[in-house]
Amino acid sequence: MNDMTPPVAAREHTVESFTREFLRELNFGRGVDLDRASANDKYMALARTVRHYLMTGWLETLRNQYRDQAKVVAYLSAEFLLGRQLDNNLLTSNLEGIARESLDQLGISLDDLREVEIEPGLGNGGLGRLAACFIDSLATLDVPCIGYGIRYEYGIFKQAFVDGHQVEKPDTWLALGSPWEFPHPENAVTVGFGGHVEDVTDEDGVKRRDWVPASVVNGVPYNYMVPGYGTNRVNTLRLWSARAPKAFNLQVFNEGGYEEAVKNQTFAENISKVLYPEDSTPQGKELRLQQQYFFVACSIADFLCNVLPQDFDLHRLPDRITWQLNDTHPVIAVPELMRQLVDLRGWTWEDAWGVTQKVFAYTCHTLLPEALEVWPVDLLGKLLPRHLEIIYRINELFLEELRDTYPGDELKVRHMSIIAEHPVRAVRMAHLATVAGFKVNGVAALHSELLRDKVLSDFAQLWPEKFTNVTNGVTPRRFVRIANPSMSGLVTEAIGDGWIKDLSQLSRLEPLAEDAEFRRRFRDIKAANKVEFARVLKERDGIEIAGDAMVDAMVKRLHEYKRQTLKLLHIVSLYQRIGSGALPLESVTPRTFVFGAKAAPGYALAKQIIALINAVGSTINADASLEGRLKVAFPANYNVTLAEKLIPAADLSEQISLAGKEASGTGNMKFALNGALTIGTDDGANVEIRELVGDENFFLFGMSEPEVADLEASGYSPEAVYASDPDLKAAIDLISSGAFSGGDRTLHEPVIAALLGEDRFMALADFRSYVDAQDRVEAYYGDFEAWSRSAILNVARSGFFSSDRSMVDYMDRIWGAKPVKQNF
Ligand SMILES: *Cc1c(COP(=O)(O)O)cnc(C)c1O
Repeated sequence: MNDMTPPVAAREHTVESFTREFLRELNFGRGVDLDRASANDKYMALARTVRHYLMTGWLETLRNQYRDQAKVVAYLSAEFLLGRQLDNNLLTSNLEGIARESLDQLGISLDDLREVEIEPGLGNGGLGRLAACFIDSLATLDVPCIGYGIRYEYGIFKQAFVDGHQVEKPDTWLALGSPWEFPHPENAVTVGFGGHVEDVTDEDGVKRRDWVPASVVNGVPYNYMVPGYGTNRVNTLRLWSARAPKAFNLQVFNEGGYEEAVKNQTFAENISKVLYPEDSTPQGKELRLQQQYFFVACSIADFLCNVLPQDFDLHRLPDRITWQLNDTHPVIAVPELMRQLVDLRGWTWEDAWGVTQKVFAYTCHTLLPEALEVWPVDLLGKLLPRHLEIIYRINELFLEELRDTYPGDELKVRHMSIIAEHPVRAVRMAHLATVAGFKVNGVAALHSELLRDKVLSDFAQLWPEKFTNVTNGVTPRRFVRIANPSMSGLVTEAIGDGWIKDLSQLSRLEPLAEDAEFRRRFRDIKAANKVEFARVLKERDGIEIAGDAMVDAMVKRLHEYKRQTLKLLHIVSLYQRIGSGALPLESVTPRTFVFGAKAAPGYALAKQIIALINAVGSTINADASLEGRLKVAFPANYNVTLAEKLIPAADLSEQISLAGKEASGTGNMKFALNGALTIGTDDGANVEIRELVGDENFFLFGMSEPEVADLEASGYSPEAVYASDPDLKAAIDLISSGAFSGGDRTLHEPVIAALLGEDRFMALADFRSYVDAQDRVEAYYGDFEAWSRSAILNVARSGFFSSDRSMVDYMDRIWGAKPVKQNF
């Protein structure tokens, strides 16, 4: 401790001191009495109080970092899907018990206040959630890290259903203020846009290029604490908010030009206004490129000018930082760093490129060609003229190298070029990232293999050592310890609490799978979690489900490749077979099919699939002849908060993408860690889950990736599959007949047409195998001792899927960064 330690009773972990702090925040921070305080007042005061207890660690972390200058990981991500902060911060500050008791004494329910928090939805789905898990793990592992991203004023839209159709509402997460952020307008960074490039000659006669932007925008940093679990380290997440440099042109205003006066303000502030809700299918929109450059330019300037000491020799930059690029969204950082070094600091191209090639590493997140970002040179050149020049120069030198290596092979050169010529001249951001990055990684073993052998195979041949894999993971703090307190308690009772920081210790549960008493307790907890989930659904969505039916969950973004329609065909087929008498109702296990999925607002087919799921759901839910055995629950607005309620209650995890299309998935890991069994294809991280939990504890179905490739090559006919499988035909015909649309045969036609026409993701081809696997699920679930054993083994064998392990792999294979223990 030293004199800079804040004067808070931060180390006094007593109920009394907590209560004192809480009331002080309520009275002096909110200006209200306990008697008159609203739920939001109490939540804000609680959050502020918890914040105090983390402050010592944060300041100490920053001070040590400045003193030691250890290597830092800068995780650059356009998305951080954080989820609620209060629970995690209570856990990491070790205040849960104290806060509960303190609030109890004041007649306040901690659980009620938890529900007040609106989660920061600053991401679309898996990619943004991954970034949030990674920064949590780095803090827990004591690794110096700064997360850099965008503070969107509106996060991912709030989904509602009107007559079963998705409508989007703005996510006003900041309406009541966020107690977790620390704005620092005095540290704003200026970023340019547009304009032109000039030749200038310095005083010493050196010629260089000088970018003269047409407009500038200020980036205001908002800092968030990222506390580690079981350590005093509190890292920083720095999100940028765009502001106009001069709020107002007073002269223009005085002359009567009101609109003109605020125009620049509008341009600037639009940049961080809203998260683009496209997942896996980026739109080449100008504002999106503005967002990307904005946060990346702010982050690089911040690191070079504010984080590093003033006198730092930038030639040593690779010793101090790795910029990890979370997908291609931040790749414009590459020419930005070159510009910083060459244009602003007068470095030679060779020196600057030498350093640049040692500080960036690129994580690829996809296999879908339409998900690979390209920026038309017209657009990029208009917005960032100097960056386009730099990209051209990088490409020129790269192509020279290629022509030396592959003389005469112009086809290869064209394939590998950073610039695509068709359909329009455009910059391939994945190629730029691969050329500039010192490492390129995929996010699961199969995905990294396919990247190497297919998507980026030319690059992998040229630079085999650049390519590596790091299988994704999820944080066990949020997705086990916080989301599933009862199971966590049981696990801790059995093996101690070391698993929370070292998830591989879950393997010690293995023998307990054979212990009947342990199985019974495990089952009871799952049953209680279902009752709790049913309560949440009733309260949140007004949806009633049985508290004891099998919970069969498919929650993830709505995308054709993820194949929600395959799940739907199974449900419709069950319904059809029961209705026709082919399947006796008594033989059907009561099941709740839970869907959660947002569709990108411009993705018409995805929205039609949502409408069809809701239509099938309302028909089935209203059909009294089913005696409530089958239910479809599709709560709107699936988000992290709902995930934390659903996953601990799930029995069956649906991971049914077409093999070779899902890069990794992380939902699959969350479910396995909470004792759900997976029904899944050999895709993404499912492959590794199955290898670890064992075939007998996993329901595998469908074509493998090579089989998919063969079928694609030999010509796939969905019509033929439809015609040859009577159950499939009957299910599709039932939808076409208007059975779920009040007799209207046209309403769901587009979904059917997509399946019977191209069926790009081969749902029909995998239907029979999927339904057979579901029959195996059904039979196995009836043997509840066997099911419980498998569920426990899923937990015991999934420790590998901790994001802590992912971070160790990144450190070993990519970063060379090391933990720096906080000792105070
Ligand atoms: C984990 C998570 C995802 C990713 O799910 P996948 O099944 O891997 O696509 C998406 N959204 C939320 C809210 C999540 O928590």
